[in-house]
Amino acid sequence: GCGICIKKCPFDAIDIVSLPEELEHPTHRYGKNGFALYGLPIPVQGKVTGILGANGIGKSTAVKILSGQLRPNLGSFDSEVAWEEILKRYTGTELFDYLQTVSKKTKKIAVKPQYIDFIPKVFTGTIRDLLKTTDERGKLPELVSALRLDAILEHEINTLSGGELQRVAIAACLARNADLYFLDEITPFLDIYQRISAAKLIRELAAEKPVVIVEHDLAILDMLADTVHVGYGKPAVFGVITRPKGVRVGINQYLEGYLAEENVRFRDSQVVFEKRAHEKGSKREDLVEVPALSKKYDTFHLTVSGGTIRAGEVLGVIGANGMGKSTFAKLLASVEKPDTGSMDSKIRISYKPQYIKADTTVSVEMYLRSCTTKFDSSYYQHEILEPLSLQSILQSPVDTLSGGELQRVAIAACLSRDADLYILDEPSAHLDVEQRVKVTRLIKRHAEGKAVAILVIDHDIYLIDMISERILVFEGEPGIAGTAAGPFEMRDGMNRFLKALDVTFRRDQTGRPRINKPDSFLDRDQKSRGEYYYYA
Ligand code: ADP
Ligand code: ADP
Ligand code: MG
Repeated sequence: GCGICIKKCPFDAIDIVSLPEELEHPTHRYGKNGFALYGLPIPVQGKVTGILGANGIGKSTAVKILSGQLRPNLGSFDSEVAWEEILKRYTGTELFDYLQTVSKKTKKIAVKPQYIDFIPKVFTGTIRDLLKTTDERGKLPELVSALRLDAILEHEINTLSGGELQRVAIAACLARNADLYFLDEITPFLDIYQRISAAKLIRELAAEKPVVIVEHDLAILDMLADTVHVGYGKPAVFGVITRPKGVRVGINQYLEGYLAEENVRFRDSQVVFEKRAHEKGSKREDLVEVPALSKKYDTFHLTVSGGTIRAGEVLGVIGANGMGKSTFAKLLASVEKPDTGSMDSKIRISYKPQYIKADTTVSVEMYLRSCTTKFDSSYYQHEILEPLSLQSILQSPVDTLSGGELQRVAIAACLSRDADLYILDEPSAHLDVEQRVKVTRLIKRHAEGKAVAILVIDHDIYLIDMISERILVFEGEPGIAGTAAGPFEMRDGMNRFLKALDVTFRRDQTGRPRINKPDSFLDRDQKSRGEYYYYA
């Protein structure tokens, strides 16, 4: 046991001050030494229920139970448990009615899976062909239009970008006629505009049917969910799903690392939004001169007027998809040649692309050793491997990693190289909230500690807010023309970016930014004052 628990707890994991009641009996356990799940989320008619927690904490297991794909064994993994016994356990709880209908095997569930890269491997044909097979509610035209898929309906599934595929997967799930909808992350590869559109569609659906969602972009989860269940524990060992909390309180408790009702501290440190975090910049020295650059593809034209990036600074890069952010990164990294302008070849650059290839069978350790001579140093262990939780996968071949593991290896590889300018294109993709928090700290520390410049392209507003000292804002017409404005101080840059999106944020008592409801009093008031990202 872990020694802290009052009751007998089989785990040696986290600081459980007082063991919640539900920890006495697992809901399900995969075999004798397998993962154990405690608690279950409660789908509610007319509501979006969020699950907020690390990967490997049992979210998919919970959904399998709720959808009737997995009959819970109440921890007694050696014999099959009868539904009667399961229902007896849940007598008098909110889940009783729900599980009773599950036991009758009548529940139909529509799922948007977390990883979507398998879709082109199992389906050949166009977007139109695929969506036709899922059109059960007669809502397809609305979904296609809201997700801006009209123009690409005839595109073959195997030619789509990550963001296009994500929107197809969301449309396919929402088009089904089911009793419960489960969406395992909607935001990877979507820009903030697309994230908000998808969130609105899900809210509309929730008026009719219960929706359960896992989402690691907390600004989006905040606007999307009515309640959240926090999942905590030790990934791959055990997970506890708390009772539902109001979305604002649940997210704030999660960021604080302390669950008040459960009296559980599951993280040592707090995540705070500091208003002063962005003020150091002016004291820094210029390090990297970005020249004016331009690049023309068949239909797209990028122009960048140039600027300087400072030593020790993280420069955030935001903007809608198709504006040329990744092209800009490739020009800086000399992966693509600009038509006009050129980077100073003396500036050493380390680059993590948006789409990471896993085309090598070498182990993670051998791969990282090829990027650095300092692999065996205690610095490397503590500053790179530990925050990215890479120790347990060092011997895994790179081509067997999950999306989140691969992302963490790619971030490690990028930061391992000696460089003046580091470029990370969408480091948050596939990472859970815990990992995003750690990556944010790691990147900031790397910039400061080594006095290097770091450019981070991302769509997670919380990550951009916490990581950046200044920001570049990409503007233009997606897929046609893009240009980089800035670098701006945070307030100016965010105002400019959000004004174009027509979205405002307020700050709650803890300083956390929250998206305002369109046309609410605050939304109108802030727009009239030009304060889209409130820094009161
Ligand atoms: P999450 O969705 O939160 O990432 P999952 O529910 O997918 O978590 O998995 C939780 C844990 O249960 C993981 O460690 C996973 O390896 C384990 N697990 C999932 N399915 C099975 C299974 N069928 N047999 C044994 N272990 C499993
Ligand atoms: P962002 O990163 O802002 O989403 P990208 O730089 O990836 O934008 O793409 C900008 C535009 O350039 C898109 O319309 C994309 O299709 C186009 N594009 C990107 N790379 C190429 C290429 N190698 N050939 C032709 N068009 C490209
Ligand atoms: Mg999962």
